[in-house]
This record gives sequence, structure tokens and C-alpha cells, in this order.
Amino acid sequence: MYIDFHNHIDFYKNDELQKVYKDIEKNNIKVISCAMDEESYKNNLRFSKECDSIISTFGIHPWRVTKEIPNLDIYDDYIKNIKIIGEIGLDFHWVEDKSTFEPQVKVFKHFVKKAKKYDKFLNIHTKGAEELVYEILYKENMLEKSIIHWYSGDIYTLNKFIDANSLFTISVDINYSEKTKEIAKLIPISNILAETDGPTALEWVNGAYGMPSEIINVYNGICRVKNIELDELKFYIDNHYDRIIKD
Ligand SMILES: [Zn+2]
Repeated sequence: MYIDFHNHIDFYKNDELQKVYKDIEKNNIKVISCAMDEESYKNNLRFSKECDSIISTFGIHPWRVTKEIPNLDIYDDYIKNIKIIGEIGLDFHWVEDKSTFEPQVKVFKHFVKKAKKYDKFLNIHTKGAEELVYEILYKENMLEKSIIHWYSGDIYTLNKFIDANSLFTISVDINYSEKTKEIAKLIPISNILAETDGPTALEWVNGAYGMPSEIINVYNGICRVKNIELDELKFYIDNHYDRIIKD
């Protein structure tokens, strides 16, 4: 079994979904499909009904946060239904409209508090705001419940997350980026997870359209960098899956 801890099945086009489901089943992959917002969550719920191996999360991605924040308490029922809140977090790098930074922080803090209240894990985007994400999670004592997605910040902050026992999803650039290899080397194998982040992530890295089975290349890349056998990596990731997703 392979586990993709950070994908977006709703990034695939509708007419590709059957192909995606087949790819998932054939390769024995469990896919955590992260929500971008409410509509994305509802789509993911539909996908998880159509394909047993897809698990939906709920969250509002920093790219979808607007200046006017709606009443977020109405989402508690969604949160009660899921195991992981995400994709949530901060993005001060790709987001150009700085006026959303403050609302992003408010929305992120809201979901961190809810994760604490309902005892959920978090799937977190940290781009260009790694230190502030750390501080917010530290304050709520939620670092151990955090899955840091595709970390690309500085090593100083990375080490703080590692010391706090956070988890990390290594992404599709593990076979291409020296920086990602360096980051993967520093993270203990017991805290490493894998992800594909939807079809466009691999496209961004090497121009190829990513199917869920790209997760196999990510696992193999991690094994090469960490100098370990596939079974050893699977042992750790499977254990996290059992602990986080299964009851
Ligand atoms: Zn993502």
C-alpha cells in the first residue's frame, strides 16, 4: 500500500476521474484529498463515495481567503466528520495581494483552534510564512498534530518543527530538487510522509502531468535520499495512516 497524504483530486478534470480511480485502485494507493474550500470539500466527498480509497479533508486554503471573512463557525459540522483539517495555512510568497495576509492569519488561527477542540490533525501550507505558522501552532500546542506540506523554508525553522515532532509530506520534486533532498535528509524517517499534490505539481517540476501513482516515485526518491529500504519507509507511513485516519 502507498499513502498519498496530500493530493487534490478535484484538480483532475471530470473526464479524467475514471482513469484516476483506476490508477489509485491498481496501485493500491490511499489518497488524502485536501479541500481548498467548501465547494472543493463537497466534490471530494463525492469522489470518496465513488472511490473507497479517497479520504476527504475540510479546510480553507490560504489562496481562497478573501478580505471579508464569512462566519467560520458554520463549518464545525464538516470538521466533526473528517480526520484532518486542511489544506489550511499561510502563503506570503505566491499570494500577491497583501491585504489578504491578515485575514489569512485569522482563518488559519480559527482552524488551528478547532483542530484542538475536536482533536484533529492539520494539513498545512507554510509558503513564505514558515516562522509565523510555527508560532501559531506552538501557542496552541498543535505542532505534534501538524502535517507540514512540501516544506521549502529555511533550515532554522525546519529544525524547530522537527524538534517539536511535526510530520512532513515530501513531494514530487524529491527526485529533482537538491533543496528538497537536503530537507528530506534532515527529517527523521519516523516523521516523513509522502504526497503528490495533484496533477499540476509534477507539471510544475518536470512538465509531466501527475497521476496518483506518481506517489511510487516519491516513495522511491525518499528511500534513495534516506538510504533505506521501501519496506522500512512503508512501515512508518502505514503506522501514521493507521493512527491518523483509522479509528
Ligand atoms: Zn495542496
